[in-house]
Amino acid sequence: MGDTIFGKIVRREIPADIVYEDDDVLAFRDLNPQAPVHVLFVPKQVIATLNDASAADADLLGKLLLAAASYAKREGVDKEGYRTVINCNEQGGQTVFHLHVHLLAGRRMTWPPG
Ligand code: AMP
Repeated sequence: MGDTIFGKIVRREIPADIVYEDDDVLAFRDLNPQAPVHVLFVPKQVIATLNDASAADADLLGKLLLAAASYAKREGVDKEGYRTVINCNEQGGQTVFHLHVHLLAGRRMTWPPG
């Protein structure tokens, strides 16, 4: 699978504002935040898009979501609420082809998304 800027962040080749790490997941603040809290949760193992995930990745996908929920609790935004997003491919708005979960919080989200 192709390398991306997120692979470079995982390998510490370029800097990022890292807010969480465990054996499988790295989380860092989005460079271009769309909400007061905007953090990206990426698997250390590269999966390009959600289309490329398989049953073998089920635990990893769950870990990404649970890491996002734990972070929201730690930041104290869990009760007021937040949004998690995985963009997939062009029409989904994906620009970095290393799967990631966006956590957005700190403002009222609109629905449907644009
Ligand atoms: P997506 O459009 O879902 O692929 O999301 C990619 C996100 O990565 C965008 O919100 C970008 O602002 C963010 N981004 C791109 N480069 C970096 C970087 N070096 N550090 C942190 N966030 C980044």
